[in-house]
Amino acid sequence: MFIIGCHLSVTNGYLAMGKKATELGGNTFQFFPRNPRGGASKPLIEEDVEGLRQWMKDHDFGPILCHGAYTMNGASTKESVRDFARRAIREDLAKAAHLPDCMYNFHPGAHLKQGVDVAVGLISDMLNYAMDQEELPKVVCLETMAGKGTEVGRTFEELSAIIEKVERKDRMGICLDTCHIYDGGYDIVNDLEGVLKTFDEIIGLPRLHAIHLNDDKNPLASHKDRHEKIGQGSLGIGTITKIINHPKLRDLPFYLETPNELPGYAEEIALLKSLRKEENL
Ligand code: FE
Ligand code: FE
Ligand code: ZN
Repeated sequence: MFIIGCHLSVTNGYLAMGKKATELGGNTFQFFPRNPRGGASKPLIEEDVEGLRQWMKDHDFGPILCHGAYTMNGASTKESVRDFARRAIREDLAKAAHLPDCMYNFHPGAHLKQGVDVAVGLISDMLNYAMDQEELPKVVCLETMAGKGTEVGRTFEELSAIIEKVERKDRMGICLDTCHIYDGGYDIVNDLEGVLKTFDEIIGLPRLHAIHLNDDKNPLASHKDRHEKIGQGSLGIGTITKIINHPKLRDLPFYLETPNELPGYAEEIALLKSLRKEENL
């Protein structure tokens, strides 16, 4: 089954996102559980959650993806910022655990010139604190990053180093962002096979649970992190087609984070469905 959807706003609640995803032609979605700039998280309404659960069942949904706020930086030099991140992610995980078939994903953080090693320690400490609770989402994903500024998680080695230090390795996964890895220097246009092989050697393909499907406004290794509409950037429609049909990727859920309003997302979902090839071809 082709699992495809886009980022949606949580403003009208969870069932509303399920309905919107279906209306756009998709069968999943991604959302921020709180304002992406941080701030408080609205408590879940049981009826709304049950409504979404039923909707997802009735409409053959794949897993949905809860995305942590960008402002969470568990590797900050400031204790107050690290503290916010620890509390926010712990609360997010409890929330995601309570939602139907929901995975969690977040940006590992930025080391702010403390160096990657210090950041890896701080990020894994944060995860060990946040994941020390009974109810956890089935997967907690680190997102592959473009390497903008002092972002941690640009290389597979950095992501693997964080996972190594997490006690609940059984729940750790990766969300691969196609814009970010190309921007970060992994040439998925000319050597998708080689990049996946490297991923498998360093992290292990079984840890790959989600794809952020975005084109990139900039050339390879730009470290700028500017998403482009599908087929209109440096990845192009050929590479995107390869990715959604690749035997090692095709069964993963794909989430669009392209610069679009809702009608644009509906068009991209329709386009991607038309590019999807039958199984065993
Ligand atoms: Fe992200
Ligand atoms: Fe992303
Ligand atoms: Zn991005």
